[in-house]
Amino acid sequence: MSSLLQALSCADNYDPNSLHADRARELVLGLLPPVTGTEKLFVRQALDRVLAAAVISPIDVPAHDNSAMDGWGMRGADLIAGDATAGETRLRNIGTAFAGRAYAGKVGAGETVRIMTGAVLPEGVDTVVIQEVTRVEGDTVIIPPGQQCGQNTRRAGEDLQAGKPAIPAGRKLRPAEIGIVASLGIAEVTVRRRVRVALFSTGDELCSIGEPLAEGAVYDSNRYTLWGMLTRLGCEVIDMGVVRDDPAALEAAFRDAAGCADVIITSGGVSVGEADFIKQLMAELGEVAFWKIAMKPGRPMAFGRIQPDGADRPGAWLFGLPGNPVAVMVTFYQFVRPAILKLAGLDPLPVVPSFQARCLEPMKKAPGRTEYQRGILGRDAQGEWTVRPTGAQGSGVLRSMAEADCFIVLEHERGKVGAGDTVTVQPLAAIA
Ligand code: AMP
Ligand code: MG
Repeated sequence: MSSLLQALSCADNYDPNSLHADRARELVLGLLPPVTGTEKLFVRQALDRVLAAAVISPIDVPAHDNSAMDGWGMRGADLIAGDATAGETRLRNIGTAFAGRAYAGKVGAGETVRIMTGAVLPEGVDTVVIQEVTRVEGDTVIIPPGQQCGQNTRRAGEDLQAGKPAIPAGRKLRPAEIGIVASLGIAEVTVRRRVRVALFSTGDELCSIGEPLAEGAVYDSNRYTLWGMLTRLGCEVIDMGVVRDDPAALEAAFRDAAGCADVIITSGGVSVGEADFIKQLMAELGEVAFWKIAMKPGRPMAFGRIQPDGADRPGAWLFGLPGNPVAVMVTFYQFVRPAILKLAGLDPLPVVPSFQARCLEPMKKAPGRTEYQRGILGRDAQGEWTVRPTGAQGSGVLRSMAEADCFIVLEHERGKVGAGDTVTVQPLAAIA
């Protein structure tokens, strides 16, 4: 047996007929290295991409000591702290410092300048008093007691220091990171290339949009949900269409996909009673384990590598997902999504943020498998999170995914849920 299959099947607690969902995820993540290959992009094009090399700050940000408020700048040492009679400090106004237009002179003892937010602190100034608490009488500015030396100023390098990493490698470039790159005056960043995913649906009953719906046929929706989920994850998607349950057509599709993608995702053809040659073909073209994951929906799943030209040729990772539309989405979010994050060079953990909510309705559940029901979140009068299942939960009822804003995760060991019991929820907004 090859090393990959060994890794997939000889691991501790392995039972291919009832693999714990968490164990399956661990096995997948343990095998996948990030893709190699980088590209240089202009900062705006790099939104949502994964940084391949740390961004080192070429400058201090801010570059100068400056004012954090609109007010008056002075020497902190001039302020009279807590004078018992009045406690006020009287300073002479000698000019103004604007953001982008510094006050050129020096501020001496007993002097002050009007200073705007972001203006460079003039020589001598180390403290700013906000305008609202001061009084102006002619040339004299009157400062109330209770000020602290150094207040309302921002120090050079307070945000980012020259020569230090401003953003580490492996970070996704969200709007905040894009802003940091811009704040350093950097025009281009090096990011990892996108993960390339080829997908096709299998099934003689599948029609594509634009074709009339034949007797007994269904429109192929899996390629569309998969395209949507993959696109949102930032993948390059290669849609190979519907492939008939025909050995030659399937073999050609696997060969094409393995030649151009990092990952192949198929739907259908892996369940019991399916034309066995699909599974046989997958096994012939690479090293693939067929798992029955102890979960609902989405029990059957194939995972491994497709390497039609031999183990020393690149090939691609395979996720052979079940055919049912809800099972496709659930297995994608629970297994494929973290795998793609790992391939993309991101830390896939925590896989999905989750929290506890009070379930408003009872739910059937037998111990011994993990269930991912579709739920709708709410808040009760006390502001605590609640959740109720969407209606019909059949694995073909795609509407249950569309209406849901969370998964209700019923853990492997858990039994039935009573109304009012606490359950774990994964908000779809965090993953979808
Ligand atoms: P299978 O896993 O191939 O036995 O498919 C299980 C169920 O999912 C069947 O009812 C199929 O018709 C349905 N199905 C399979 N593939 C798709 C697809 N691409 N789009 C919509 N339904 C599908
Ligand atoms: Mg099928």
